[in-house]
Amino acid sequence: MRRRAVDWTRVLDADPRPREPVDVEAVTEELVRTVAATPRWTVLSGAGLSTESGIPDYRGPSGVRRSSDPMTFSEFSGSADGRRRYWARSHLGWRLIGDARPNAGHRAVAALQRCGRVGGVVTQNVDRLHQAAGSTDVIDLHGTLDRVVCLDCSTRSPRSELEVRLAEANPDFEQLAAEVRQVNPDGDVELDDSWVAGFRVVPCLVCGGDRLKPDVVFFGESVPKERVARAFAELDRTRALLVLGSSLSVMSGYRFVRHASRHGYPVVVVNQGATRGDAEADLLAWLPLGEALTTLAERLG
Ligand SMILES: [Zn+2]
Repeated sequence: MRRRAVDWTRVLDADPRPREPVDVEAVTEELVRTVAATPRWTVLSGAGLSTESGIPDYRGPSGVRRSSDPMTFSEFSGSADGRRRYWARSHLGWRLIGDARPNAGHRAVAALQRCGRVGGVVTQNVDRLHQAAGSTDVIDLHGTLDRVVCLDCSTRSPRSELEVRLAEANPDFEQLAAEVRQVNPDGDVELDDSWVAGFRVVPCLVCGGDRLKPDVVFFGESVPKERVARAFAELDRTRALLVLGSSLSVMSGYRFVRHASRHGYPVVVVNQGATRGDAEADLLAWLPLGEALTTLAERLG
């Protein structure tokens, strides 16, 4: 793996990447020392942890540019056209998301859990790769793409079941789906309007309604209170926060850093770029996550 330049001593606002190459080994040593000093950590993970699994990030060095505004909850729930657009694009992206496999970073987090150094895992990711790597006690803060919820009757069902029905209803999308190589971080792909117009959505099998939604938190929706409370409770149990691959740009994640900081819990951030929580962090380790976390798990395991 190519060594990336890192800088954990200061944060450069304008450019998320460090300007001066810093010794990766030295920063990794500092990371190992800092994490070893506290018995148990709560992990808060973001998109940067899944980029090595082929799921791109909107931010960070490997980030892709968002070509259009993300669909809001009101647009999705209130408009049949909005839902058609969402499902057409998401149906095409699902194959890549569904096939994604956990990487070394996810496996290291699971190993740190097994040896007791990590308690619960709170993730902003919707890909379930922590669970696939063997992690337990995972709180999917923003929900998961592999489940579907009906907005009319609240029935939850597996995404795989819906995908079979969508594929049957849209045979002409088969060829298109096979050609998809690049998925957006939200699990969808760019798609021409003419294709979107021809896409057929399928109804809920229980109530017949046409408002099936992936079981994820959309923009304009809030994370369920009970889920947030469980995450805070987990953080208060370990009294230490290890942030992995999140720029913390949304409050749903940043609030845990603020909570930790207010209570004097140690905060360590491993990310490939500046984050909103840098001021509160005791250590910023600008490291490639898979490699750094593997070393951490080996040394602490
Ligand atoms: Zn329903």
